[in-house]
Amino acid sequence: MLVKTPCNFCNSKDYVALNQVVISPIHETSWLVRCKKCGLAYINPKPTLERERRLYDLEYFKPEEEALWREYRYPLFEKMLSRIESTIPDGSLLDVGCGKGYFLDLARKRGWQGVGTDVSSTAVQFARDTLRLEVHRGELRDAKLPENSFGVATSWNVLDQAYDPWGDLREVFRVLKKGGLIALRVSNLHFHLYLQRLFDLTNSIIPEGLRVTAPTVFHVYMFSPGTLRMFLKEAGFVDIRVENSTLDPNVPALINFAGKSAEVLLRNTAYPLAQAVYYLSIGNLLISPSLLAFARKP
Ligand SMILES: [Zn+2]
Repeated sequence: MLVKTPCNFCNSKDYVALNQVVISPIHETSWLVRCKKCGLAYINPKPTLERERRLYDLEYFKPEEEALWREYRYPLFEKMLSRIESTIPDGSLLDVGCGKGYFLDLARKRGWQGVGTDVSSTAVQFARDTLRLEVHRGELRDAKLPENSFGVATSWNVLDQAYDPWGDLREVFRVLKKGGLIALRVSNLHFHLYLQRLFDLTNSIIPEGLRVTAPTVFHVYMFSPGTLRMFLKEAGFVDIRVENSTLDPNVPALINFAGKSAEVLLRNTAYPLAQAVYYLSIGNLLISPSLLAFARKP
């Protein structure tokens, strides 16, 4: 079920429609809109809290996709840890939306003391029982973590799927130590919106049998470099850096979305396209499929 919702950041109900999209990973059609007041793009109407809870609790982690996710995320996690360690070499780390705990597990092997939070009971059970990690089940604020307690907070492709990203970001700020680092990764609005429009246009002029589903991903919140910076700045962070993040050919969300039969097509078309865009997006031109952001608590 979908419900009309005000902007998560500024609470305004005024918006303009951007495009009709399929919500990932819920597979329901809705509208991607942009808040007229602050510019945040989000799905409206959006899934209810109950629908999101059920999805992430019971349906999100599929055993058959496990190997694919690990293969996809590990190289990214290694790279991210090296980036973080170049600024803060070790200490306490909070991973928000830690899933099964693969990032925390890797961080622990490199000397970090990690704590995670996730809304999925199946994922949390795996992280606790199999990987022996300290993970809280529920929203970040449910964990009631003490303030000024972590040197680093990470959140990999979670903020754009959160029910209340603005609330979560302020909570991260509260629990970080002074000088603490936040590292985030989210889908990039610009890449997915323009690719969707290109596919919509192409599909509208070719025969029905030849139409192709766009390899785009639309989460409940879609950040642009500008709105991501706005969230971080208004939450109190400084030294904000937003940059392009590349795409992996095994990205399970895309394969999932388009179906197994489209896997070869995706690997042969979407991936080279995304790579090309990534290499073209230099300097301030942030149009790669995903965005990375780093910032500090002053
Ligand atoms: Zn707004």
